[in-house]
Parts: sequence; structure tokens; C-alpha cells
Amino acid sequence: MKAASSAIVLIKGKIRRFFLPKLYPEYVKKQLSIRQGDCLQCGKCCVFFNRCPFLKGHGENIRCLIYNVCRPKQCKIFPIDERDIQEVNGICGYSFPNLDKPEPKRF
Ligand code: SF4
Repeated sequence: MKAASSAIVLIKGKIRRFFLPKLYPEYVKKQLSIRQGDCLQCGKCCVFFNRCPFLKGHGENIRCLIYNVCRPKQCKIFPIDERDIQEVNGICGYSFPNLDKPEPKRF
């Protein structure tokens, strides 16, 4: 049951990240402007459901073949907010300052 619920969370996250830039571009722009840190290229956000074909290696030797070349926007904007970080079990090179701003309406 837990696997099914976590799969639903991941599906909702993917849908949310697909629509947020289209429906709430200002929110996404603001979030990316306050996002702190940097991508560790750990690959956790590259294996939701299916493993990205541009991801090579495993464990410590994992790397994205197109990281500094032509990553899709969907990759570049991850994480948009704290909810995205929770989808990778709270471990990501990025973080967000704790501002008391409401998120846009939930999907
Ligand atoms: S989970 Fe965070 S640190 Fe890891 S690859 Fe994705 S954006 Fe980069």
C-alpha cells in the first residue's frame, strides 16, 4: 500500500511540475530566484518511474550526459519548491528559505 501511495505522490509531482510553469509562471520564477544551493547531480530526480536515458552509471559514479549541454526545462527547474525536495526524501543540493508566502492553489 505504501508503494502505491508513494507512486501517486510521484505522479502528482510530475503533473504539478508540468503545469506549474504554464499556470503559475510568476510563482516558478520567484521560487527559482530564491532557490539556494546547487545540484549535486545525485540523479534522484532523474529516476522517477523510469530512469532518464541520459543518466549513466550508478551510485557514486552516476552522471548526466547532457547536464551542461541541453537539459530539458523540466530538469532545470527541479526543485520548484519544498514539496519537490520531499519527493527525493528531503535530500537535494537545493533548498528554499522558509518564507511565509502561500503556495499557489494545490492541484
Ligand atoms: S535531487 Fe537535487 S541534487 Fe539530486 S540531481 Fe536532482 S536537483 Fe540535483
